[in-house]
Amino acid sequence: MNVPEGAALVRKGGGVRRSSGVMRRGLAGFCCLAARGAVVGRGMGGMGIANSEAPAIPFPEIHAMSPRNLIVIGNGMAGIRTVEELLTLAPEQYRITIVSTEPVAAYNRIMLSPVLAGEKSFEDIVTHSLDWYAERGITLLAGRTVTDIQRRQREVILDDGSVLPYDRLLFATGSVPFIIPVPGHQHPDVVSFRDIQDVNRMLAATAQKKRVAVIGGGLLGLEAANGLLRQGMEVTIIHDMPHLMNRQLDAEASDMLRHELEARGMHFRLGVFTASIVATPDGEHLEKLVFKDGSELATDMVVMAVGIRPNVSLAKKTGLQVDKAILVNDTMQTFDPCIYAVGECVQHRGALFGLVAPLFEQAKVCANHLAGMGIARYVQRATATTLKVSGVNIFSAGDFTDVTADSLVLRDPASGVYKRLLVKNDRVIGSVLYGDTNDGSWYFDLIREQRNVADLRESLLFGRALHDPVATV
Ligand SMILES: Cc1cc2nc3c(=O)[nH]c(=O)nc-3n(C[C@H](O)[C@H](O)[C@H](O)COP(=O)(O)OP(=O)(O)OC[C@H]3O[C@@H](n4cnc5c(N)ncnc54)[C@H](O)[C@@H]3O)c2cc1C
Repeated sequence: MNVPEGAALVRKGGGVRRSSGVMRRGLAGFCCLAARGAVVGRGMGGMGIANSEAPAIPFPEIHAMSPRNLIVIGNGMAGIRTVEELLTLAPEQYRITIVSTEPVAAYNRIMLSPVLAGEKSFEDIVTHSLDWYAERGITLLAGRTVTDIQRRQREVILDDGSVLPYDRLLFATGSVPFIIPVPGHQHPDVVSFRDIQDVNRMLAATAQKKRVAVIGGGLLGLEAANGLLRQGMEVTIIHDMPHLMNRQLDAEASDMLRHELEARGMHFRLGVFTASIVATPDGEHLEKLVFKDGSELATDMVVMAVGIRPNVSLAKKTGLQVDKAILVNDTMQTFDPCIYAVGECVQHRGALFGLVAPLFEQAKVCANHLAGMGIARYVQRATATTLKVSGVNIFSAGDFTDVTADSLVLRDPASGVYKRLLVKNDRVIGSVLYGDTNDGSWYFDLIREQRNVADLRESLLFGRALHDPVATV
């Protein structure tokens, strides 16, 4: 499924102008003609953001009989889902071009963990084959990066100098992994865990290297550590907090998780801060990590899984309004009415995003407005987290830190089960489950719906089966 650098699926009339590399390299053998001619509505709902600072960009009328150009920057889970939703609502409305730095068709990023663990292959997690794009007349420019945008001319510029005109532009540029800038962080054996290239680098390293230090004891770090352990490496997790997954788990569930992972052979250094990454004198290989307390850990490879930052460099360069991420209103529209944004690159009402569920809801709303329907609004909802480490069942949702809430707890150490629900004003506001997560979705519904649970309270921890046996059959 790998597409070589510069490969492209280009549709005739797809709108690549003055292009050098893309047209030269991409057209041969990859043309597919899509004759589309639908009426296009005006449809820019959500002009809700007042923008006093940004330069006024003329808002173009959309009334032509021919399809307009939609360019999507990013072929990740948010971008491709928006395109899917749009094709369902208005399949004829746009000539769609997707530009993707990653030289591959779309894949399920959350399944990189099973690929690293050897449980799945890359082919198993590809969600949209090249045929999928071709059959829908979508131009995929894989292995190409948008380097600039001329908003007045409504053109994007690619890294090979190609210029693509757009009527609507969608930012779906995702996030970049954060790398702690300690001395030594640029060594080639320091890797992040974000895309298939990172996974391939780690898998290649498992053949030559023995010891790995994973910096970050959150969800991603634990999944990376589990994968590398399963590949036969000696794994140590470094975490700056005393508890693993401290954003999702309380201390008790976190300790149960650590004991389980220790029993599988994982090592931990908790509550320590990395000061530097030291290579061998010739610089060829990694030698050790040095911590701020002076202690050291010998290692051949370092995986940094310490968080992500919204990928906003292009948005900033083009003058879009950016705070921590690209600012959007409830319709996923940016301050430029021709430009929308979805996914981890957006900031909506102060919130940033790092899980797929909200991105898919954003995609639906955005497609609704791109299609000219103009009736959907994005509303933030609670999210739930599970850990993808086989044999370890964890579920976490809502707020479990509110000390003013009542804490209902069920412990069964012999079976390795721990359940904690936080209840406030007769509503469940948070849930942490370890060992038995069967009722996770029920608790999650209670949290999202904010149902009054006064009548259920005494037996809430025993699960849905007790209250609604039919629903659990
Ligand atoms: C290993 C792993 C496991 C995860 N597990 C879970 C999980 O269990 N549950 C969950 O809900 N979430 C999980 N996530 C998070 C989830 O995958 C992300 O929230 C989601 O994929 C983000 O989608 P996105 O489209 O916003 O960004 P991305 O998927 O990052 O896509 C952005 C794309 O845009 C491209 N791009 C950026 N700039 C440009 C440019 N200028 N020109 C062209 N292309 C550009 C990038 O190369 C990238 O391909 C996981 C993430 C990882 C890495």
